[in-house]
Amino acid sequence: MKRYDVAIIGGGPAGLTAAIYARRANLSVVMFEGNVLGGTLAELKRIENYPGFMGTGKQLAAKMTAQVKKLRTRVVTENVEAVKPIEKKGRSPYRFSIFTQKSEFSALSVILAIGKKRIGNGVERDYIGKGASYCAVCDGFFYRDAVVAVYGSGNTAVDDAIYLSNIAKKVYLVSLSELQAEKSLISKLKSAKNVEILTQHVVKKLNGEEQLQSMTVFDIASVSQKDIEIEGFFVANGVNPDVKLASKLVSTDSDGILAGDTVCDTKGVFACGDAVSGSFKQVVTACATGAQASEKARAYLLSQLSSRI
Ligand SMILES: Cc1cc2nc3c(=O)[nH]c(=O)nc-3n(C[C@H](O)[C@H](O)[C@H](O)COP(=O)(O)OP(=O)(O)OC[C@H]3O[C@@H](n4cnc5c(N)ncnc54)[C@H](O)[C@@H]3O)c2cc1C
Repeated sequence: MKRYDVAIIGGGPAGLTAAIYARRANLSVVMFEGNVLGGTLAELKRIENYPGFMGTGKQLAAKMTAQVKKLRTRVVTENVEAVKPIEKKGRSPYRFSIFTQKSEFSALSVILAIGKKRIGNGVERDYIGKGASYCAVCDGFFYRDAVVAVYGSGNTAVDDAIYLSNIAKKVYLVSLSELQAEKSLISKLKSAKNVEILTQHVVKKLNGEEQLQSMTVFDIASVSQKDIEIEGFFVANGVNPDVKLASKLVSTDSDGILAGDTVCDTKGVFACGDAVSGSFKQVVTACATGAQASEKARAYLLSQLSSRI
């Protein structure tokens, strides 16, 4: 079995940048991506705060991916299900076995660039694929001229509602609290004529036989309940770190992986991007920490090599 210098788990901006730096340092790299290369970036309808670029997330993700492929990085389009550190007595470095559903891979170091997962809230569970979705950018297109609802209160919810207001006939933004998004986003939302904001409302259930037909909302202020006809329901509660995989390997908290300067508490493991606890969750910082994780991995591999001479 080929043993790679670095295994990068996650092909978002953090993982892609880590791959560029590692390949340019002449390290052998295997990168795993279970969904789409480009990660969350590939879903963003517009990105205007990444220096030197203004356009869709998909365009920027395509540029990053092309750069990684040009450097002949091995890309495995599968989810990593487990990472197992292997230590032979008295011998350094660790070797890591990386398991996907189909295969096992071997690497001397691991970079966790796994991003974050969207949080569901239960009501949508029976309607995924029947009108409920976690991704407005991915599925909004299917609701042209329809009535839809977005459920959430933060930046993701407001951003999704703005996005859908350009596609759907009408958008309800339902929020348990007052909106907690950036002011500029809220004022943009309020200028959309086809958006109705229902704060202090709870979506109690979704209704419909084969397909979603309506939602039952409870108004906390007036203590009353009503059904509103909708065809699409977008859950936008924000994101959660997908730390199931990581927590067996490194320390984590409720916001993600614990890593100082991208270095985790398991020797040979590094973390970058949104997956890191307390990180500023933006593309530019995901790229920056991806580069840093790669450099830390290179220095680690070098130190392991010299300790064996
Ligand atoms: C609605 C919205 C709008 C945003 N707008 C902006 C913006 O305008 N500007 C900006 O800078 N940022 C924006 N962001 C944030 C930005 O998208 C993220 O900060 C950035 O994508 C993080 O990059 P990442 O590589 O850490 O994670 P991600 O982009 O999330 O990539 C992680 C990748 O890892 C993969 N993965 C996870 N687990 C595994 C596994 N076990 N095996 C294999 N692959 C795995 C996932 O499939 C995913 O592709 C926005 C985010 C959202 C949700």
